[in-house]
Amino acid sequence: MARVLSLFTPSGRPTLGNLLGALRPSAQRLTAGAARTDHVYGIADLHALTTPHDPALLNERALELAGLAVAAGIDPERCVFFRQSAVAAHTELSYLLESTAHYGEMQRMIQFKEKSARQEVVRLSLLTYPALMAADILLYQATDVPVGADQSQHLELARDLAERFNRAYGPVFTPPRAVVPKTAARVMDLADPSRKMSKSVDSPGTIHLLDPVDVVRRKVMRAVTDSGSEVTYDPVGKPGVSNLLVILSACTDTPVEALSYSSYGALKRDTADAVIALLEPLQDRYAGIAADRAGLEKVLREGAEQARTLAAPTLAAAKSAIGLTAA
Ligand code: ATP
Ligand code: MG
Repeated sequence: MARVLSLFTPSGRPTLGNLLGALRPSAQRLTAGAARTDHVYGIADLHALTTPHDPALLNERALELAGLAVAAGIDPERCVFFRQSAVAAHTELSYLLESTAHYGEMQRMIQFKEKSARQEVVRLSLLTYPALMAADILLYQATDVPVGADQSQHLELARDLAERFNRAYGPVFTPPRAVVPKTAARVMDLADPSRKMSKSVDSPGTIHLLDPVDVVRRKVMRAVTDSGSEVTYDPVGKPGVSNLLVILSACTDTPVEALSYSSYGALKRDTADAVIALLEPLQDRYAGIAADRAGLEKVLREGAEQARTLAAPTLAAAKSAIGLTAA
């Protein structure tokens, strides 16, 4: 049995990278005929507490992200769609997995190294959140986790923790695997193509999903390109041009090899058009969803109810195996 799970963190305003790397591939998996419980998607609001946050904003960001996920095609009628903080089993299992994980392996996580280097005060949860992420996945016995390339290491850790727990205490968890999209697994910042586009990093090279279309066009037209004038796909030698080709490829579902351009200007114009063609209808759908906030909150409440039911047997099995309750 396959079960797909992906959670999205409201740590900032969602970007084109989040859409192409995670939201859209997740939505595309919701094919007709699948059972609702084959797909578990949600808003990982607890993960937004790992770096400095504004309490009033967090709730807004969580609802905005939920609305954008639905607008991107994550149809709550076809999956279990909920807010992580509404399902207490996540934090409960997380502690059992923190007691399975080792300090050294958590410190080696690239995201921890990168994000802790950017902060004066590092929250302890930034170190431990991969255990919570493993709990998010293992609670539902998920087999496939669609994520961008930057999350592969955390998925490896979730696998390791599942296997270690199973070896030590008995077979409770299904080791999951990462499903990384073939294109756009790592969309780079348009103003600095040496680093990935991130919603928590303020940069003129980040396209936000709710940017007005003229802003989107301006950001693409101002994208940093490389020396020379030839348009070739070469992520090392020509990171800026290659990033535009990847974005255009993903937005139009055209393989990079099939794209041929003789100037940077033409490539930028077509990329801007393609991004806008994807974002404009998404923004229209979002406006409709955001106008009915109570409706969205109700959808999330119902989803949390389903998630609790789905998670309960695994949490009970894990507690029993580790010695916390009688079998
Ligand atoms: P943060 O800076 O807070 O880590 P983020 O933009 O990296 O924000 P996450 O919430 O960490 O977003 O990740 C959400 C999903 O989007 C994950 O599956 C992640 O792999 C994917 N993702 C994030 N950034 C990119 C990117 N630049 N290209 C492709 N996928 C991405
Ligand atoms: Mg990230």
